Amino acid sequence: MKYISTRGNYKAVSGAEAIRLGMVPAGGLFVPEHIPEFTIRDIEKMQQEDYQDIALKILQEFLTDFNKNKLREAIYSAYYKKSFPPRDITPLVKLDKNKYILELWHGPTAAFKDLALQLMPYLLRQSIEKIKLDKEVVILVATSGDTGKAALEGFKDIPGIKVIVFFPAGGVSSIQKRQMVTTGGKNTSVVAVNGNFDDCQNAVKELFADKEFNEYISENGYQFSSANSINWGRLVPQIVYYFVAYVELLKRGEINKGQPVDITVPTGNFGNILAAYYAYKMGLPVNRFICASNENKILTDFLKTGVYDINRDFKKTISPSMDILISSNLERFLFVITANNYNLINQWYNDLRTKGRFQIDDKTKEKIQKIFIGEYSDEKETKDTIGRIKKELNYLPDPHTAVGIKAYEKYQKKNIDIPVIIASTASPYKFSRAVLESIKCNFNIDDEFDILQELRKCTNTEIHRALKNLNKKEVKHSRVCKKDKIKDEILDILQ
Ligand SMILES: *Cc1c(COP(=O)(O)O)cnc(C)c1O
Repeated sequence: MKYISTRGNYKAVSGAEAIRLGMVPAGGLFVPEHIPEFTIRDIEKMQQEDYQDIALKILQEFLTDFNKNKLREAIYSAYYKKSFPPRDITPLVKLDKNKYILELWHGPTAAFKDLALQLMPYLLRQSIEKIKLDKEVVILVATSGDTGKAALEGFKDIPGIKVIVFFPAGGVSSIQKRQMVTTGGKNTSVVAVNGNFDDCQNAVKELFADKEFNEYISENGYQFSSANSINWGRLVPQIVYYFVAYVELLKRGEINKGQPVDITVPTGNFGNILAAYYAYKMGLPVNRFICASNENKILTDFLKTGVYDINRDFKKTISPSMDILISSNLERFLFVITANNYNLINQWYNDLRTKGRFQIDDKTKEKIQKIFIGEYSDEKETKDTIGRIKKELNYLPDPHTAVGIKAYEKYQKKNIDIPVIIASTASPYKFSRAVLESIKCNFNIDDEFDILQELRKCTNTEIHRALKNLNKKEVKHSRVCKKDKIKDEILDILQ
């Protein structure tokens, strides 16, 4: 399997190269040149297999240049029982008739990003070995909270790789900060930046493009890479759990073989929902995808009108991991749905760069609307949904998951006769304050760790193990830097 650029501006590369490079150096994203397919019979047979077997089956199709035994090793190391619940890596909870919640947050940091970031470091490590790269890879991460901790946990103590995380000093919750600065490992660094998330993100992006700095780093034996979902190595592990969830429904006798389901995904960068779409292209029976947004509903507008327009205000919401205006992975989706038409992609992304907007043609729009629905949930709706679902169905969704539930309800107002899988992307404890406010327990508590305890008492549920005792853990990172001094900070870390 070769990987090609969505903009037709780069040679075809192997899976290992695509993962090592992260994105196409000249701009654009790597995509598989064709999509492997499973039959209904293949999917039916997966009922005899566990998560790891299904993961191996899928990864092997995409990473044909990797050694099968080594892939298996990587999968078993990643989804080890210390990182995930031993049998049920992604539990599927029946919420109501024909409604299922796919809990993706049982990994070490309580966010769905663990499912990819526990495995991807092994894939990168193997890529480095295959290419015989004689440099140490330095993963630069700019984070607004969740990605940073998941990347630190995933890359911790992986030989030949260092990871440096930049977060906005005042822009993450105290729990998220605490999760990051208490990470162990000899190869991890965490830096608080005096600036906002965009300052961190822009600084990191500029560094990737800074030729002189990259040459200097290279002479000293290092090379930069990225761990966000522009990297194919982060997307491919996410295809797995959509198959696993479907197969689980088959096993429970809730659906018949070949029966289509709906899939709802609370979406930010379009990575998770794109993985679901790849699963569909590989043969998973899907009726509709419901792309759920919060008040930053650029994707809802795009799916309804065919116009993608970033000239709008950015809103801070209680589902911060979806506060995003540039959904990077949409480019991959548009490439696939236009049957690899890189001329169109170039035209649209050129418009986006110069005018901050692009409009797709009617034919493509109709094609998308046959399978994709865009809906959103505003702040009040999200809070009401958390409260109502807890009260009526005794299930406690986090704000991101609640956005998914509400968006689905707006799409499907009548009786649900098609089963729906709703992706749940974070533990409710990760966003305790918003959740506690939504279920209307009277409280007058300021400290975030006390709020965790209060939520536990109020709901009679367990605090996610990643967040328990967090306030008692030792702080291991205390670096702080100004937003225009990130380069110096990196050099200081590498020396
Ligand atoms: C990252 C994240 C999302 C958005 O996922 P994308 O793949 O970027 O669409 C949703 N919810 C949570 C909790 C996240 O951390």
